[in-house]
Amino acid sequence: MMQGHAINPHSVQVRNIHELYYLRTQKAQPKMEQSEKRLKKQLRVCVATCNRADYSKLAPIMFGIKSHPEIFDLEVVVLGSHLIDDYGNTFRMIEQDEFDIGSKLHTIVRGEDEAAMVESVGLALVKLPDVLQRLAPDILLVHGDRFDALALATAAALMNIRILHLEGGEVSGTIDDSIRHAISKLAHYHAVCTRSAERHLISMCEDHSRILLAGCPSYDKLLSAHQRDYYIDIIKSWLGDAVKEQDYIVALQHPVTTDIKNSIKIYELMLDALISFNKKTLVLFPNIDAGSKEMVRVMRRKGIEQHPNFRAVKHVPFDQFIQLVAHAGCMIGNSSCGVREAGAFGTPVINLGTRQTGRETGENVLHVRDADTHNKIYHALELQFGKRYPCSKIYGDGNAVQRILKFMQTIDLSEPLQKKFCFPSVKECISQDIDHILETQSALAVDLGGTNLRVAIISMKVYSYHRVHTSSQSDGEGKVVKKYVQLNPKTFEERIELILTMCKQAMADAVHLNCRILGVGVSTGGRVNPQDGIVLHSTKLINEWSSVDIRTPLSSALHLPVWVDNDGNCAALAERKFGHGKGIENFVTIITGTGIGGGIIQHNELIHGSTFCAAELGHIVVSLEGPECMCGSHGCIEAYSSGLALQREAKRLHDEDLLLMEGMTVNNKEQVNAIHLIDAACLGNSKAESVLHTAGTALGLGIVNILHMINPSLVILSGVLAAHYENPVRQVISQRALLSAQDTKVMVSELEDPALLGAASMVLDYTTRRTY
Ligand SMILES: [Zn+2]
Repeated sequence: MMQGHAINPHSVQVRNIHELYYLRTQKAQPKMEQSEKRLKKQLRVCVATCNRADYSKLAPIMFGIKSHPEIFDLEVVVLGSHLIDDYGNTFRMIEQDEFDIGSKLHTIVRGEDEAAMVESVGLALVKLPDVLQRLAPDILLVHGDRFDALALATAAALMNIRILHLEGGEVSGTIDDSIRHAISKLAHYHAVCTRSAERHLISMCEDHSRILLAGCPSYDKLLSAHQRDYYIDIIKSWLGDAVKEQDYIVALQHPVTTDIKNSIKIYELMLDALISFNKKTLVLFPNIDAGSKEMVRVMRRKGIEQHPNFRAVKHVPFDQFIQLVAHAGCMIGNSSCGVREAGAFGTPVINLGTRQTGRETGENVLHVRDADTHNKIYHALELQFGKRYPCSKIYGDGNAVQRILKFMQTIDLSEPLQKKFCFPSVKECISQDIDHILETQSALAVDLGGTNLRVAIISMKVYSYHRVHTSSQSDGEGKVVKKYVQLNPKTFEERIELILTMCKQAMADAVHLNCRILGVGVSTGGRVNPQDGIVLHSTKLINEWSSVDIRTPLSSALHLPVWVDNDGNCAALAERKFGHGKGIENFVTIITGTGIGGGIIQHNELIHGSTFCAAELGHIVVSLEGPECMCGSHGCIEAYSSGLALQREAKRLHDEDLLLMEGMTVNNKEQVNAIHLIDAACLGNSKAESVLHTAGTALGLGIVNILHMINPSLVILSGVLAAHYENPVRQVISQRALLSAQDTKVMVSELEDPALLGAASMVLDYTTRRTY
């Protein structure tokens, strides 16, 4: 099975923190140097805005650009519904904000049906080339998923103008998705709002080094907006003097162009429900999409404009709109503002229909996807009105604009304009490249143990020259190409120093061994935060480290990505990639060495837990009393079955002169240890047998607990003592496990260096895969 080649991009997602780390390092690759080398010429940025919604996102960036005239030169192009009287002539907002509008393009073909939208795209395409040619911007900023934006992106892409697309990668569930993704395909750079939008773009084969996770620009202002104190005047100015904070509704429903009939019906039901709910309500006119005319007719037929509870308006300036949303008792409709901005204030939202299906939302949103009865909507109003939710930051932390400005400055204008798509590797190319033959993809693995510090070069594929033309390349096999072992120094500085020296030596050797080193994987004792590469807390074996950053010193000295995880987790990763765990969805690894550790693979992924202390299997407690454990507790399986525990018992027996059997010796230099105990038991020492029996039973009981907790299909025993425990563990399972767990397989690992192989697998898994 050629693992990693049959990847279906739709089924594979970024799932775990190791992978996320890699994506981050890819993104963070500094291009500052190049940008500094660039002539100190202003960056010509053209911002094109089509309607009030996109302006609300673009305006904060425009202000940011304008405030740095030494860096940027701003050009503003206005088109689309900004210039339409029925939609409030919203271009005036831009003038009020004191931006010079360089070009106004009338691009809307009236008619408000599907054909009119297409004609509008066509009209924009006819008018844009002239303007773009005249302005010749370095970068064109395009926002979102409107048809006007598609025209902009199409024109710019064909005219070799770099496009920065804002808010790509999101999913709403309508035709907007197709347009948004089409713009992403045309765009050269992306500034996205959310982590999952970023992942979507990556899985759409966009180059992740060109994706900026910025957050939503309108959030910057937003997050400070609702603290202002003049909001009550704003509320009164729109809804009358009698209205109170959190005692009114904001309604904003747009047509869904792919299902106009249904969206008009939902609109009707919403208005009915609002009439019977009997609260002050601000209704905004729908946007210009096909179907909007009909919705306005519905509104008029129901007399909304004359109704004492309602105020129907075409446009509210964004900063005032935000205040209105922030202090509303509830927001209803299908506007993206409801699922996005409202979340920042904790305003309750009722989302009607399918227009925002698939958007990431906070807990403030109540979906009425199938809004087919007045009753349902009314009930939703009853549930949501007047509630307050915790503020959500899914869409940003308030620093989006700064990030975007910085990102634009790092865009290298000398870089080839043609973007590259990062396709999943489909099939191994039949023709060979000399590098493929000579180089093997490899990793440096570091194992930080109690006594020894080990570094190894580990490669994934072992090509031999003669096997190149056969189909049986040993894909998926790990090979320790070269290993380096030193005593582990005492202090942190000495230790990092030594790791660096060993790694540098290994990298030099790797060149001659034709191993291409893709990164460094570190396996260490203790509790690890693999996201940040930090040892949070280690055992006495490595000097009780706490909050030690291993990643930064290594990655900055070696210029390679560095992964760090706990040795038990690494052993499980090793089994998943190279050992008995290959292709097994749920399994557990238990390492019995000096201590006892382990790793849990569930649904093919490692479990880290909420504070990274999942799979501390050595500290499963199997007795109320029991011997004291290194962790401070009593009766942990580590206190019964680890090498140290057996050594403790061996010493005890030896002191009482009960250990040694005929033919056994312990010379003065060596300490009595677990091996002596095992030897004695083999020779028939009943005391030693009994100690081992207890140890095996304790371990078996611990494993029975694991089986009952997570029900893996396989338990892999590894470490020096594994073979001795295989049978006792099987026996305890057959005696004590529930019937359904009795069939769980128990195997002894065949891997020689699980910690090193696992450390390497973190590197090889993420660096050799371009699809997620
Ligand atoms: Zn313990």
